Amino acid sequence: MKKTVRDIDVKGKKVLVRCDFNVPMQDGEITDDIRITSALPTIEYLMENQAAVILMSHMGRPKGEAKPEFSLKPVADRLSQLLGREVIFTPSDQVVDDHVKASAEALEPGQVMLLENVRYRSEETKNEEPFTGQLASLGEIFVNDAFGTAHRAHCSTAGLAGYMPSVSGFLIEKEVKFLGDALEDPKRPFVAIMGGAKVGDKIPVIENLLKKVDTLIIGGGMSYTFFKAIGYQIGTSILDEESIKLAKTLMEKAMDSGVEMMLPVDTVCAREFAPDSEKAVFNSDTMPKDMMGMDIGPKTIRLYQEAIAKAGTIVWNGPAGVFEMPAFAEGTKAIAEALAESDAVTIIGGGDSAAAVEQFGLADKMTHISTGGGASLEFLEGKELPGIACLEDK
Ligand code: ADP
Ligand code: MG
Repeated sequence: MKKTVRDIDVKGKKVLVRCDFNVPMQDGEITDDIRITSALPTIEYLMENQAAVILMSHMGRPKGEAKPEFSLKPVADRLSQLLGREVIFTPSDQVVDDHVKASAEALEPGQVMLLENVRYRSEETKNEEPFTGQLASLGEIFVNDAFGTAHRAHCSTAGLAGYMPSVSGFLIEKEVKFLGDALEDPKRPFVAIMGGAKVGDKIPVIENLLKKVDTLIIGGGMSYTFFKAIGYQIGTSILDEESIKLAKTLMEKAMDSGVEMMLPVDTVCAREFAPDSEKAVFNSDTMPKDMMGMDIGPKTIRLYQEAIAKAGTIVWNGPAGVFEMPAFAEGTKAIAEALAESDAVTIIGGGDSAAAVEQFGLADKMTHISTGGGASLEFLEGKELPGIACLEDK
């Protein structure tokens, strides 16, 4: 267990907090502020407990240069609105300079300031000096609350821990609790649902989950790599050639360890990758040569719903079909609804799966929606995340 802000005395201290304010922007406007609202509990706790709060974040990929379109100014404005008090923004191409240092110096307990995008500095993503030391000169305690970048060892996510007492914020605490409990102490049966398109990234996750789950459900674009491994014809469906062998090994492992592995028994196929394409349902072992799999079929939906209904814990990563096109959203929608109706602990990891749940209006029916796509995948893969490993143990 890692220490959190609750475990240390922050009163009168300058506290450096790494947040994930990497919000989507369009024409200078924030289009979704969930990442900002998710950071509020930690910021508010620190303000109430009389810390002087210095916030850090990245946004986008300015690649070590000060590019105005990646400025965190809009985030400072939105955060001010949400907190109902001023957030002092310190614009600086260097992120930390004499002026910024003076502002940090003058910051009073209960006040909040936000530094400019840490990725304006080329050292940030390499975890190199002098940037880490410059950031460290501003504060006395490091709080990491940026789960979305916890799988990266950067100056502001891990490097700072070498300089001062370091603890987690409430968001990281919550992510670790839900994802960690699911992996270590799940209410059984434990069902994992894996889908989406990034097969190569997700196969290592499946490998780790096979050691933990009772049932593994496969859907979405990764199904066809498994079909190929069995020897099915998959037409023009997406395929990760390099993962076929591993897919075969995983199926054998599942068999050996008594994990029930469920693959789609039927598949909605389309002539082309288009919302209005001609479509038809086939048993998965009879997919035509000139069509591609786009969604799980109705028989599969029924089988998956039954497995979900029996579950005690469900981890879902990756949509069951091309849910962005209404004609191929049925499978993903059915799974989201089955999770919403279930009494199980339901955890959603992955940006597109979270977006799907949001799109169907079911987000508040889930136990936990992870805020970190890549980070939650690496967590489920069983890897140690450097932004968490660097924090003090309880
Ligand atoms: P997540 O972000 O939840 O981890 P991924 O990024 O791996 O999920 O995959 C999401 C994408 O997978 C979606 O854009 C979806 O359209 C795509 N997808 C799902 N099923 C298929 C399929 N059968 N063929 C092609 N793409 C698919
Ligand atoms: Mg994705």
